[in-house]
Amino acid sequence: MNEHAIRELMCRVGQQMHATGLVEGTAGNLSARLSEERILTTPSGLAKGELLPEQMIIVNLNGQRVDTPTEANAHLRPTSELMLHLECYKVRPDVQAVVHAHPPHVVAMTIAGYDLGQVLVPEMVILLGIVPTLPYTTPGSTEGRDAVGTAVREHDAMVLAYHGSLTVGNNLSEAYRRLESLEHTARILTLVQQLGGAKGGLNREQVEALIAIRTRLGRMRPGDEARFLDRVTQVSNEA
Ligand SMILES: [Zn+2]
Repeated sequence: MNEHAIRELMCRVGQQMHATGLVEGTAGNLSARLSEERILTTPSGLAKGELLPEQMIIVNLNGQRVDTPTEANAHLRPTSELMLHLECYKVRPDVQAVVHAHPPHVVAMTIAGYDLGQVLVPEMVILLGIVPTLPYTTPGSTEGRDAVGTAVREHDAMVLAYHGSLTVGNNLSEAYRRLESLEHTARILTLVQQLGGAKGGLNREQVEALIAIRTRLGRMRPGDEARFLDRVTQVSNEA
């Protein structure tokens, strides 16, 4: 995909995030790798549903601007949460896109003290993986960056407590699909709580079959198998 197509896709994903309520106001940010050390990112302070392709900014892995500013973006700065994105690209050479959003059900679950790191629906194995919840840190802080840097080694989707989500992928579409799937899962879990709580989850055999699919899709992260099977045991014991 060439740079122009990635800029247009970034606008479309921004529109989808806004239309589906995954971000509010000017919140959320997107980025995509153009080459090993050049990252295209959304600017700070603009609504994600109204972005134009020419407003995106190119930075290096240290966050320094490396594009030639144009009339459309000379007055703009990269997203204030750029550090989180850059950390993902530094730690994971395979990551091609990062999406940060404020999905309401996901954030609500952290405030209510629920853990999303469970295996209750197939999508959690096939697409999402185990989703860790990182402790709250001030947005833009180095503590938040370091926590993401550690978690992204083993995870493609993570929750930032009281704040939002961070998902990565082979391209913007995949990182966005993980965000959608995460919020959808949080909505299901919210309904489960309203219906009286989980009465069980997928059993070991079912999860093993899903792990085989995840492996075929090339999505396994270090330690994944043990993490999935560990969660199955926990759910069974609770049930
Ligand atoms: Zn945020």
